[in-house]
Amino acid sequence: QQARIRHEVEENLVQLFAPEDEALRTTITATKEAGLPAIHINPLQGKLLQVLAAACNAQKILEIGSLAGYSGIWLARALPPTGRLITLEVSPAHAEVVQRSFEQAGVADRAEVRVGSAHESLPQLVDQAPFDLVFIDADKPSYPHYLDWAIRLSRPGSIIVADNCIRAGQALSESALDDQGAAGLYQYNLQTLKHPRLRAIALAMDEDYTDGFNIAVVLPEA
Ligand code: SAM
Repeated sequence: QQARIRHEVEENLVQLFAPEDEALRTTITATKEAGLPAIHINPLQGKLLQVLAAACNAQKILEIGSLAGYSGIWLARALPPTGRLITLEVSPAHAEVVQRSFEQAGVADRAEVRVGSAHESLPQLVDQAPFDLVFIDADKPSYPHYLDWAIRLSRPGSIIVADNCIRAGQALSESALDDQGAAGLYQYNLQTLKHPRLRAIALAMDEDYTDGFNIAVVLPEA
């Protein structure tokens, strides 16, 4: 009963606030056809990223972890025509799908996928900083490292969002420490809470209320 109500509410929310168009649906089909896992964000998360992009007047957005470009399309569409999305993807096969997704969604003029591990790509972005919005959605053990870079590449007022920061509670406590991925997420949450230049919250956003974003705003230096 509860699960049915949650499902209906979710469907109504998506229909009202975040309906998918042809390009987004095509990207999901392309994800399946390329044999990639369906681990993209959901439409409400896509819309939340757009609201956050508007809140920080985003002209430049950085994404870490592109998969097939689904979240990238939501992000690119939040930009003005002169804006820029750079999305980092370690897998050349995924990046090919991303490029096609951006083209069929009509955002290839402002969205660029860079192939390679984010560990190597991030230091090359210093010249293009600051980014107004950073979205982290790649390998979980590296999240604390990506947070350091996100802060370095941001400005006061930038927003840093990371996906999967609840993981059915595994990312919220010490007990995570025996699982590398969950431990990275727990450290990430702690870092966002302890860092003097961040104000952060984690929000459950999926249908069964077990996972969601950590959203952190970069504060001015004291
Ligand atoms: N943000 C995407 C969306 O919602 O549509 C989903 C991203 S998926 C959860 C994670 C992606 O991160 C995968 O495509 C994976 O290949 C990529 N990835 C994993 N490790 C990476 C690394 N070190 N550098 C860059 N990308 C990485």
